Amino acid sequence: MRQYLEQDKNTLEKVICNYCGRELKLKNGIVQEGVFRGETHWGYFSSRDGEYHSFDLCEKCYEHLLEMFKIPVTVEEETELL
Ligand SMILES: [Zn+2]
Repeated sequence: MRQYLEQDKNTLEKVICNYCGRELKLKNGIVQEGVFRGETHWGYFSSRDGEYHSFDLCEKCYEHLLEMFKIPVTVEEETELL
């Protein structure tokens, strides 16, 4: 989950892994480690129609989640690193 500065809603103040509760390293509003951001707007055909969900996972918890998948995630090499 993400918290933004009271005075600047665009600047991150805190990022916490929703799974383990650990606060991720942050410097000047930029996360200094691997983080997975999950978000979706649930639509009409779901039981959560109209809800927006979001969460963050640290890299360790993301790897843990992947171990539970029957089919591995699709991985592609990115030529332009962000
Ligand atoms: Zn975690």
